[in-house]
Amino acid sequence: MIDTHCHLDSDRFQPDRDEVISRAFAAGVRGIVVPAIGPDRWERLLQWPRRLAQIQIGLGIHPQLLPELPESQDERHLARLDELLAQGGSSAVGECGLDGPSVPAGASMERQLRVLERHLELARRHGLPVLLHCLRAHKELIALLKRVPFPEAGVVMHSYSGGADQVRFYAGKGCHFSFAGPVTFEDARRPLDAARAVPADRLLLETDAPDQAPHPHRGGRSEPAYLPLIAAALARARGEEAGALAEATTRNALALFPALAR
Ligand SMILES: [Zn+2]
Repeated sequence: MIDTHCHLDSDRFQPDRDEVISRAFAAGVRGIVVPAIGPDRWERLLQWPRRLAQIQIGLGIHPQLLPELPESQDERHLARLDELLAQGGSSAVGECGLDGPSVPAGASMERQLRVLERHLELARRHGLPVLLHCLRAHKELIALLKRVPFPEAGVVMHSYSGGADQVRFYAGKGCHFSFAGPVTFEDARRPLDAARAVPADRLLLETDAPDQAPHPHRGGRSEPAYLPLIAAALARARGEEAGALAEATTRNALALFPALAR
């Protein structure tokens, strides 16, 4: 299995990061993609895949971070991102995207759209897939994807929060869909309906650790070793065998992030 979205660089893993990684490998996770959330993490994260090829990274600016960054610096940050992506060592562009709840906090949707569009351009220029966050902004995202060229290396709708009906549009564009802890919750309906609508060759697994811990760890710190719980819940919902789903999602992830296969 591949954890396609895990914030292993979070401070919450500071005390025991090596143990967290060992537990993940012991649980059957053979690769982890760590998306950066902002510029101050980029250089440090680029060191990670050099140390351990099973951990690959994405570079980007998370929309929830935008309220903390001066808008006047956006261009400078994006130019730096372009430079770092050109140097190689990054397996994806992201985390980037649109976050409805961040608008009242000071990141206007106009700014978010501008920054995301630049990420999509960079993904095309560097031939990398995109790790995309979209929360309560699907209307705006769909309009954007209708307007701009689609990154050929792929777009991962991380912790997909849209409806089953919107899966058809995103899949038609070429998107992949990854699901996190909420598919294991007893009251999960929307994400499971969506997961059932996803074509088998577009399905991915993620923990989004340390957030979104699956049942029975709900509310606590998530970690990549919990990935089999998410695979099992998805397999149940789709009426598939857990081992087959683990294999299919691994194949999908390795095609998107070939550095993990090396
Ligand atoms: Zn994330």
